[in-house]
Amino acid sequence: MKHKTLKGLQDILPPDISIWHHIEKTAANIFKSYGYHEIRLPIMESTEVFKRSIGETSDIVEKEMYTFQDKGGRSVTLRPEGTASFVRAYVEHHLHNNPPPQKYYYTGPMFRYERPQAFRYRQFYQIGAEAMGIEDPKLDAEIISMLSRILDSIGLKGLNFEITSIGCKECRPDHKIALKNFLGSKLDAFCSDCRRRYDTNPLRILDCKVPACIELRKGSPPVLDYLCKECKDHFDSLNKYLKLLKVPYRVNPNLVRGLDYYTKTAFEVSSENLGSQSAVAAGGRYDSMVKEFGGPPTPGIGFAMGMERVIPLLKDVIEISDGPELLICPLDNAASEKGLHLAELLRAKGLWVEINHEITSLKSQMRKANRISAKNVIVLGDDEINSHKIVVKSMIDKVEKESKLDADQIAAILQQRS
Ligand code: ATP
Ligand code: MG
Repeated sequence: MKHKTLKGLQDILPPDISIWHHIEKTAANIFKSYGYHEIRLPIMESTEVFKRSIGETSDIVEKEMYTFQDKGGRSVTLRPEGTASFVRAYVEHHLHNNPPPQKYYYTGPMFRYERPQAFRYRQFYQIGAEAMGIEDPKLDAEIISMLSRILDSIGLKGLNFEITSIGCKECRPDHKIALKNFLGSKLDAFCSDCRRRYDTNPLRILDCKVPACIELRKGSPPVLDYLCKECKDHFDSLNKYLKLLKVPYRVNPNLVRGLDYYTKTAFEVSSENLGSQSAVAAGGRYDSMVKEFGGPPTPGIGFAMGMERVIPLLKDVIEISDGPELLICPLDNAASEKGLHLAELLRAKGLWVEINHEITSLKSQMRKANRISAKNVIVLGDDEINSHKIVVKSMIDKVEKESKLDADQIAAILQQRS
């Protein structure tokens, strides 16, 4: 083999692509019912877009970005996530001038230079949503409920929904002192990254993946215990609304997110069937980001779901049958020409029709029908052409139905059976 995909990247081939379409279509329908509009953003931004918003001391910015100089000497970065690009676009196009809430969704590849392993890639796809302009926790409840509906509708069961509040600029200083007091006495035992984080951004220690650090930080004070009145009221109301909407969830005070821009609500959906890469989707509020990008103060909330983690969970759950509505099996050259024309007429009606261009025995044509999962077959020979009559045979229940050799009539039978 001369060339292979780069480490951590993968080709997506049929039949997997049917599951991708199933997820994308289901999500798009649900987004529509909640008033979310699709937005398409570039996969590259100037490095600054990500650096400040995600946080200089976050794992993403410190270790995972694909950053390089373009030919004009600018520092550009392949997007590691969607929210920062979205906020850049939101401010650039003055979308805040429209009445709130402004609701958008996106799908597309993200890039992070991580150690590739099962369910963790260097190019991975996210479906994400962002809702702007409303501070009220009813919007938080609504977007979390929408995520739950999407995951449920695509066929995922047994997921854990966890929420917390990570407070705001008001509550963080007190929490930071408590956290540093707790961690300080055992700091020497933490990894070198965490020892550095202790001074730069101690909250990041709570997100470290090193097993020893996970053990050492057990029992540390959660932000949830230090919320200011506004954040506490916000979180209490969110809990009330989630119960009202019957979203199954639990509060996890130790939940932390790997990005610095979050305020108040943070949430994560995980599955026990993904090993240590358990997060399927995650999100939260980011009430100061628009202002930091130079726009008017505008609250926002969003989430992103990882396609490569959802697909494997779905493979055993849903069955997507992907085969043509009809396979035309001609027995000689004249029938082959007739079939060629018939196939075109049926395709013009939107039906997926295949024809065997190479004439082989009837037995081998039937074998092929099974191999490609054709739902129906028509055999075309002298008799059928002379009598102008054919039989549409269902490969599913083997029922045979007579029809004129006529595209309208055949299409009606196929549509009845689909
Ligand atoms: P993790 O803790 O697994 O690294 P994260 O907190 O970095 O996840 P987010 O930035 O919140 O992830 O991205 C949202 C979702 O995108 C995750 O829940 C996950 O499903 C998916 N995701 C993130 N990084 C990867 C990756 N390298 N490969 C595949 N999917 C990913
Ligand atoms: Mg990560």
